[in-house]
Amino acid sequence: MPCLICGDPKTVKSHLTPRAFVHDIRGNDTRAYEGSIGYEGTRYTQAGTFDRTILCQLHEDHLKDCDDYAVNWVRDVQADAQISPCGDFLTVANPRPDLLAKFVYSHVWRHAVSPRNSAFDMDMGPWEWQLRQKIFAEGRYDPTFVIIRQRWMSQGIELKEMIIAPYKVEKRLWEFGLGGLRWFLKLNDRRADKPLDRIKANSKSPLRIPILEDTEFTKRPGIIDIGVNMFRETYRREMEGG
Ligand SMILES: [Zn+2]
Repeated sequence: MPCLICGDPKTVKSHLTPRAFVHDIRGNDTRAYEGSIGYEGTRYTQAGTFDRTILCQLHEDHLKDCDDYAVNWVRDVQADAQISPCGDFLTVANPRPDLLAKFVYSHVWRHAVSPRNSAFDMDMGPWEWQLRQKIFAEGRYDPTFVIIRQRWMSQGIELKEMIIAPYKVEKRLWEFGLGGLRWFLKLNDRRADKPLDRIKANSKSPLRIPILEDTEFTKRPGIIDIGVNMFRETYRREMEGG
């Protein structure tokens, strides 16, 4: 498949989830796991998930600034975030909110358009083109995204190795999990997202991140849906393909 942006037939290895996240999480000896409703089961990720068919070198390089920024920003959240006196939010510096937004948009976009995930419902409808224009051509579309601190725990210990790849929570709402944070992207026009104004992360510098209680992995809202959808997908394929 030629580059989705320019049609250059020569495509390169494009990371769907930036490698550094996986390396940060793995530390010395831990493996990172990437789970999603988009895949069956979980992927062991030694070097991050990647796709060799979606972007040319030029357009892969176009994402380097936001990937680097996001990796460093997540490190800052973990090392330098100020916790509010009531413990209900973190405050983190965010000198380039445009790059944080570009990371969120391109992270979801890359997973959505990757043929690796084509068997699953990653369809963005008309918003795919809008998002692509925003990422690669400085388009004006600027959908709302929200970042919340909520760690995956297992018997009281943080499951740092969990990365949740972007998936559709509902028609226009996408979520992914990285760095002890839940990231949500709503593919509306901003006008439709008035109720989210107080917690949206767009253009915020510094950024306040609401803290939700650490939740046991098995009790976390959404995890049942992820499991059910994974099961459903497997079941559907069995019914179709035998
Ligand atoms: Zn290209």
